[in-house]
Amino acid sequence: MEPFRNEPYSDFSTAAPRDAYLEALDTVTSKLGGHVPVVIDGKPVATDVRITSIDPANPDVVVGTTGSASRAEAQLAIDAAKAAFTDWSRRPAAERADLVHRIGDLIAERKFEMSAWMTLEAGKNWVEAEADVAEAIDFCRYYAHQAVRIAEPVPVVGYPGESNESFLIPIGPGVVIPPWNFPLAILVGMAVAPVAAGNTVVIKPASNTPVLGAHFMDIVAEAGIPDGVINFLPGPGSDVGDFLVDHPDTRFINFTGSKEVGLRIAQRASAVHPGQPWLKRAFMELGGKNALIVDETADLENAADAIVRGAYGYQGQKCSACSRAIAVASIHDELLDLVVARAAALEIGPGAENKSVGPVISAVQHRSILEEISRGRDEANLVLGGEAIDRDGGFYIEPTIFAGVRPEGRLAQHEIFGPVLSFISVPDFEEALSVANGTEYGLTGGLCSSDPERIERAKREFHVGNLYINRKITGALVGVQPFGGFKMSGSNSKAGGQTICGSSPR
Ligand code: NAD
Repeated sequence: MEPFRNEPYSDFSTAAPRDAYLEALDTVTSKLGGHVPVVIDGKPVATDVRITSIDPANPDVVVGTTGSASRAEAQLAIDAAKAAFTDWSRRPAAERADLVHRIGDLIAERKFEMSAWMTLEAGKNWVEAEADVAEAIDFCRYYAHQAVRIAEPVPVVGYPGESNESFLIPIGPGVVIPPWNFPLAILVGMAVAPVAAGNTVVIKPASNTPVLGAHFMDIVAEAGIPDGVINFLPGPGSDVGDFLVDHPDTRFINFTGSKEVGLRIAQRASAVHPGQPWLKRAFMELGGKNALIVDETADLENAADAIVRGAYGYQGQKCSACSRAIAVASIHDELLDLVVARAAALEIGPGAENKSVGPVISAVQHRSILEEISRGRDEANLVLGGEAIDRDGGFYIEPTIFAGVRPEGRLAQHEIFGPVLSFISVPDFEEALSVANGTEYGLTGGLCSSDPERIERAKREFHVGNLYINRKITGALVGVQPFGGFKMSGSNSKAGGQTICGSSPR
């Protein structure tokens, strides 16, 4: 394998990648509306019910349909993953790693086509879609390298007259449950990490974005991953999800999604069911209410850029999004003006036209965000946005800013998961740190400051999984910024990092 390096991003201000993206959009548009099945043991499985995936920029457009599994297919998928484990877990790590690396290489060959699917199914603009696909490629290559590394024996202390060994082993079939907001990167990362290490999986994709998962499955087959090692089971989370989590043959669960669903899964995973010979492991990556602190020593233009990019990239639908700007009072008003001016200038429109702010993912999410904005009007001052925008029926919401937000209020505590930013004024850095830490979450955070002592303090006392200094707080790169949060943001297993399980230092 080549040494790991992150997949580079395109410069869409130049003609070649721009033309290639437009061509990919044309290609994908000509394929819209097709059907993709559930895949169990490498074979398509027909289902009575289907999931319809739509374009959030134009909900009349059907991106595609997928099979919708019931518990009967879920049982078959677990059986297939269990059967495939025997052979797959015994293959040499280098062989598994080569195959997983190959998945990454094949995605890379189709980077723009996969990105174009993402633009149409998830509403991401070109930059966001390409970053998602690049992250999926990175996960394949990075975890391929990690699989070879962790196959080496773990060092042990010598003991006279004895020869002791410690090594890691694959543990069995697991269940992968991703969210819709990184439809390729998170789905792929949570699946290929255990697979590279010799495990087998059943993927239950999010119902808003199952078509991307189906395209990943085509690549899995093409890469030569044996049947049954990765099974694809779109279906209703509340029914099939519970069944997969509860199943006695499920050995581990890789989940990324909301706190509510994550806690339900963690609790269910701790129950031991008849015939279950092991304790399940449940790895959780959950929500965030991430803050960027700006003090009076900061470069305010840079801070405003960081806030706007973090708050409105992919319409604020990132677990790492900047949803709280905590500003020291002496610079609060100036910073707010800078942020409002930048946010107001963002162009709103379809991801296919590469606008800065696209639609949110679904009618349900659209309604939920607008309800939060409506509640917020009673709680703080709406200084920008707040309205839905109607274009082709797409789920657009204006970039929205509330000022005068109380740190303990709902706007500052509840994850909205949309283009809504809360400004909080604090007297000084001391209070800023306390407010920043004052939520149940601890995923990402940032500090814009030129004071070295405060930066050092933030490293020690700002309790988040990923802390960024003088930059935006989104966009962690695989291997460069191992990603995962504390507190209610997750079990801190660090995607794209070397931690195997449990906690790791930031
Ligand atoms: P969600 O919790 O609604 O759904 C996540 C997945 O769980 C989906 O595939 C869904 O079908 C499935 N599911 C639903 N009920 C289930 C059940 N009872 N059993 C098993 N599976 C079930 O989350 P979402 O709306 O898809 O994603 C948004 C959330 O994800 C936000 O809270 C966001 O912060 C979080 N997120 C976290 C990270 C991270 O790395 N920490 C990354 C991305 C998203």
